[in-house]
Amino acid sequence: MNLFPPTREEALARIAAVEPAEYSRSRNALNGAVTQLSPYITHGFVSLPEVLKGVRSKHRVKPEDKFVFELGWREYYRHVWQHRGDDIFKSLHEGVLPDKAYAHEIPVDILHACTGVAAIDMSVKTLYATGYLHNHARMWLASYMVHLRKVHWSAGAQWMYGHLLDGDLASNHLSWQWVAGTGSHQPYLFNAENVARYAPLHWHSSGSVIDITYEALDQIARSASSVSSSSAAPDRDAIDRPSLFAQPPKTFSLSAPSLTSVSGRDVWLVHPWSLGELPNQLSPDTVFVGVCIEEFHRAWPWSEKRWQFVNARMADLTTERWYGSASSILAALKSAKLVNGLSEAHISGYLPTHLLGEMTRCLFPQVDRRCDSFSRWWKIVSAGQRVE
Ligand SMILES: Cc1cc2nc3c(=O)[nH]c(=O)nc-3n(C[C@H](O)[C@H](O)[C@H](O)COP(=O)(O)OP(=O)(O)OC[C@H]3O[C@@H](n4cnc5c(N)ncnc54)[C@H](O)[C@@H]3O)c2cc1C
Repeated sequence: MNLFPPTREEALARIAAVEPAEYSRSRNALNGAVTQLSPYITHGFVSLPEVLKGVRSKHRVKPEDKFVFELGWREYYRHVWQHRGDDIFKSLHEGVLPDKAYAHEIPVDILHACTGVAAIDMSVKTLYATGYLHNHARMWLASYMVHLRKVHWSAGAQWMYGHLLDGDLASNHLSWQWVAGTGSHQPYLFNAENVARYAPLHWHSSGSVIDITYEALDQIARSASSVSSSSAAPDRDAIDRPSLFAQPPKTFSLSAPSLTSVSGRDVWLVHPWSLGELPNQLSPDTVFVGVCIEEFHRAWPWSEKRWQFVNARMADLTTERWYGSASSILAALKSAKLVNGLSEAHISGYLPTHLLGEMTRCLFPQVDRRCDSFSRWWKIVSAGQRVE
């Protein structure tokens, strides 16, 4: 069964199902009332203002509600990305150990989900099978990799990004930095007791390397040694690691950019982060073109699941879809009468913002001065909260 049908109706149904009070009470549990909206939000099927407006149409939601707060985390990470640019891909400051204490290779027992730590193996299996992981499982996996196996957070972030349907460069990389302690002031640590509290039985990890106290975990995190993989499960438990693709799989109907259909026409561009509703005040002559930029996908390859998710929705919105270098796309678009679309941070480095026009809509007011902590940013935005 496809957990994430690539339709706007599905996104709207998920919004209609949000129960903010239940969300606050249970969101930390793996079977809690989380929304699973993230793939739809990341790819622009729905915007954050639309999400909150939809929830508000059925429930009283106060600005201090946990649900609003969590949407705030997403926008805070965007704020950091906007101010720091590509520096978010490097450690924001030193973590518990210098960068060089961590490896850039991910151990194979993690990649193949056979570490012998049930919570980790289940996380990796779930990630590969669904393209989604509950926030708590993401934190456990990242913490285990960085603090116990001494994998550099950026290697873990790149790997996880590729397999997520909701992979978002700001939320993903900055969350990894938060766990690592390079974007926060302490490492995030967890143990078997914490897993037992929030996860179902088959995730429980008693008797494994994480079945220790927080003091012992902290000592490991602050020393150069990593936990041995001697408790690893037998190889027969290993699963295959899905491939990541810099290009859309061959069966997809993406072609090279071409002048033929856009020459002299109005063009509305659709890209992987703008898969929401099409505007209705466009000229009847408008041609709808989907674009995937080669340079981006070479740097950040995606799983087949994610390509499928994006391609299916793009096919519903457009008459043709291009995969090519930014310069070849721009060259083809030069022949168009008028080009428009929605800008978004993932694409704005490749296609100029003036070409695409309006940025995707935010929930909170923009903060011009950089805030280095969520609480500082939250204080400012919640004072002048737009939250429609
Ligand atoms: C190591 C790690 C990597 C992550 N990578 C990503 C990523 O690539 N893309 C991504 O969207 N989120 C990422 N997150 C944040 C969070 O885990 C997901 O947004 C959330 O789990 C998505 O599931 P949901 O839609 O059911 O969330 P819900 O709990 O239902 O929340 C609703 C929405 O609020 C936002 N949100 C909730 N919690 C957070 C959070 N902690 N940080 C940022 N936004 C949040 C998301 O847009 C989410 O869809 C990451 C977290 C960690 C610890």
